[in-house]
Amino acid sequence: MDCLPKCEANYASLTPLTFLKRAATVYADRTSVVYDSTRFTWGQTYERCLRLASSLRSLNVVKNDVVSVLAPNVPAMYEVHFAVPMAGAVLNTINTRLNAANIATILSHSGAKVFLVDCELIPLAREALAILKAAAATGSHASPWVVVIDDINSPTGARLSELEYEDLVRRGDPAYVPEEVRDEWDPIALNYTSGTTSEPKGVVYSHRGAYLSTLSLILGWEMRSEPVYLWSLPMFHCNGWTFTWGVAARGGTNVCLRNPTALDMYRNIAAQGVTHMCCAPIIFNILLEAKPHERRKVTAPVEVLTGGAPPPAALLQKMESLGFHVTHAYGLTEATGPALVCEWQARWNRLPQAEQAELKARQGISILTLADVDVKHSETMRSVPRDGKTMGEIVLRGSSIMKGYYKDPEATSKAFRDGWFFTGDVGVVHPDGYMQIKDRSKDVIISGGENISSVEVESVLYRHPRVLEAAVVAMPHPRWGESPCAFVTVNKNSAGKTDDVKEAEIISYCRKNLPHFMVPKKVEFMAELPKNSTGKILKAQLRAVAKNLVVS
Ligand code: ADP
Repeated sequence: MDCLPKCEANYASLTPLTFLKRAATVYADRTSVVYDSTRFTWGQTYERCLRLASSLRSLNVVKNDVVSVLAPNVPAMYEVHFAVPMAGAVLNTINTRLNAANIATILSHSGAKVFLVDCELIPLAREALAILKAAAATGSHASPWVVVIDDINSPTGARLSELEYEDLVRRGDPAYVPEEVRDEWDPIALNYTSGTTSEPKGVVYSHRGAYLSTLSLILGWEMRSEPVYLWSLPMFHCNGWTFTWGVAARGGTNVCLRNPTALDMYRNIAAQGVTHMCCAPIIFNILLEAKPHERRKVTAPVEVLTGGAPPPAALLQKMESLGFHVTHAYGLTEATGPALVCEWQARWNRLPQAEQAELKARQGISILTLADVDVKHSETMRSVPRDGKTMGEIVLRGSSIMKGYYKDPEATSKAFRDGWFFTGDVGVVHPDGYMQIKDRSKDVIISGGENISSVEVESVLYRHPRVLEAAVVAMPHPRWGESPCAFVTVNKNSAGKTDDVKEAEIISYCRKNLPHFMVPKKVEFMAELPKNSTGKILKAQLRAVAKNLVVS
């Protein structure tokens, strides 16, 4: 066949911005955003985004400038996901749990032109800006424009600068024509990794990658049109795993929450008729441990997409019994959020609940827009057999994998080999092609030459009725080199006590449920496990403690 001529006139870039325009046409009067007493329709959200984008342009924001945002899940945080790229700029949402020095580093590294700050986070932002200013004195970065996002329901009047978000929206031009996306590989967002195992790095998302990831997740999760979506996952985390754009694509309703407390989540699920939510497994504990006055009956099943850390099968089962229908996904910042989804197969519905939970605890198969995923032996680059046992490193490639780390060619070239992105996660492939993560490569325990998956030991600990949270790391062992050491928090007994649970009981429970070499040789009880800014357990800290423990 002769080569067909390339039809320029017919070419349009893939960008999630089209989702908003479409929603504003098709679902103009449907509720787009709910936040306590505030409600917007898709028609209004579109107009607000156009106005904000035009105001950003009047602050001299031009193509590819970075606009940083420090805010919880309030309506403004949702709107910037469209308004900032409509102005031609790149959105950089910052983790609100970082400290001032980290935030200053991000503002400086990204070269942010505008910095939008929620009113409750002014003290943190002020401190970060002071650090940035001190660095600017030595010539590294000019200060950004600062805009305060006052609370739309109960304005505080707090100011950090002359500029306020609602003023910008009011002053903006509703007839603004968004900056055209001429090249779909242009950047739309810049997200810094949480730095669990290394320094934070800036991951650049393209319009194309964001568009394709959004569609894949909608399909993989089977999200129907007009969902009512509860924002329990921070939007700063991989742009809410792309559902900031995804809810617009489905003409859904965003239920915004300043804090995902048990009471607020249950209250909104009941009052707004929530159908979907995403969250890390840590939110399961908040929902499961809710006090009776915080709880509401979940009358219609809520679809929950979970990931970010391995959800133990025991927790999945408990969530299902409360009326949450859980789908498990795996991903990382570099993959524009989830890269694998544990797609559910109808035939599994006939299996007993416990077996279903075990299947759900697997991380799954690639989302549709990922060109390929494999588990490879890191040195030989050979694929591991599909036996559910042989461990290798999870590697990914496709449109939704980042192009690279911002201004860091060295880290970028280290992350890729032969076109594959190396995740640093160790996993196996089951005979049916579903993948399961066994550990982060740094967390695998090597005992007497055997690889022990800390995740597997943790999943048994989670089955113990009194264990609330568990983390297993390596401790030195005189004979085996390393042995598993468990750190746990436990729930209270009927007398409100926790000290009745003893180490010997936990160890004997593990003996009954694990091969001998995998049983923790030590169990340490803690009031709380140390966590990073995205709620992940800091195993490096626990390893430092375990290093000094002696096997009894
Ligand atoms: P960081 O890498 O800085 O912690 P990310 O949010 O990118 O920040 O975290 C990605 C990591 O989280 C993955 O590499 C993996 O170790 C872990 N992770 C994500 N989802 C899952 C999951 N479903 N099961 C097990 N681990 C997961």
